[in-house]
Amino acid sequence: MTQVKPPIPLIDLDAQYRALQPRIEARLQKVLLEGRFILGPEVAELEESLARFTGARHAISVANGTDALKIALMAEGVGPGDAVFVPAFSFIATAEVVADIGAAPVFVDIGEGTFNIDPDRLRERVEDVAAEGRLRPRAVIPVDLFGRPADYGAIAGIAEDHGLFLLADAAQSFGGAVGNQRVGSLAPVTTTSFYPSKSLACYGDGGCIFTDDGDRAEVMRCLARHGFGADGYSAERVGLNSRLDTLQAAILLAKLEVFEEELAARGRAAGWYEAELRDVVAAPAITPDIASAWSVYTILVERRDAVRTALLDAGIATAIYYTAPIHLHPAYAGYGDGPGSCPVAERASERALALPMHAYLDEETVGRVCQAVKAAVA
Ligand SMILES: *Cc1c(COP(=O)(O)O)cnc(C)c1O
Repeated sequence: MTQVKPPIPLIDLDAQYRALQPRIEARLQKVLLEGRFILGPEVAELEESLARFTGARHAISVANGTDALKIALMAEGVGPGDAVFVPAFSFIATAEVVADIGAAPVFVDIGEGTFNIDPDRLRERVEDVAAEGRLRPRAVIPVDLFGRPADYGAIAGIAEDHGLFLLADAAQSFGGAVGNQRVGSLAPVTTTSFYPSKSLACYGDGGCIFTDDGDRAEVMRCLARHGFGADGYSAERVGLNSRLDTLQAAILLAKLEVFEEELAARGRAAGWYEAELRDVVAAPAITPDIASAWSVYTILVERRDAVRTALLDAGIATAIYYTAPIHLHPAYAGYGDGPGSCPVAERASERALALPMHAYLDEETVGRVCQAVKAAVA
């Protein structure tokens, strides 16, 4: 009789909870006993810890990563008539916030191999929109897809040439770095998310905004707290209610204690995958000097559905990020130029397959996944 092997989940929140249970529960219990569930002391403590971790001067915690993007755009005064350049291949929220505040998302294709916005295509699109004159080029939101920081050096040059506000959507890359500069300090304003599957995650919704600019930080904090000024009573702006719960801050503080080790473990898992798979499928590039947070490990395969089914039969969970690029979603088609306008993103959406990735993977498990991938693509 063959031995039945346990199924391999895509991410393993269970293993993490078992490893961190005493510290998470001690943190939660303190909040429950103190009863300060909204903007309790853990929220300020977390903001300080996150600022220290990233090297950014200010960290403003908010309710989720989508609000973080929206608040950053509101603080910049982006609105109707403005073009905001976004990668065509991302989670929908990157474009959603742009449309939500009345501006127009302009889709830019991604680079081969990085899954991130292609700086050459970005420059072309900005020049096209400027020449056309219908919309004002106003902002660019690079996304650090699957954990890998975008090419901020090139993008900052384009932003400067065209007077664009540069906002980094680092929802998937918290913990990543370029050289010795961490995500959070790679752009004038950076946002992240603590949704349960992200690299640093709480047990619900959460997000944060990072900047070195003190005036801008004050405006964003004001917007996130109903537009109230420093006195907490007088509404100085039309804002929104976007706070990180104290209980979620407590969970994040507990997880932050082991976060560096978790990042290292994800990096090791990515290395095992790459060694086994690089000659078999299109595996994500590992680039010296660019440290991915490896929140997702995505390969590109032909006959994806068949590969996915074969992995499922072997007890291996996979996911597809993303089944369609944003410009081909019905709600966003009107902002884009239809099929064929972002070919690299469109091809990626047909081939992308995310394999199990988390900090509690061992080499044997990664080996099992790689064997199954090799058998399926053979
Ligand atoms: C998850 C995610 C968001 C949104 O974060 P939420 O906390 O779920 O609102 C935005 N952008 C990208 C690229 C994401 O992956």
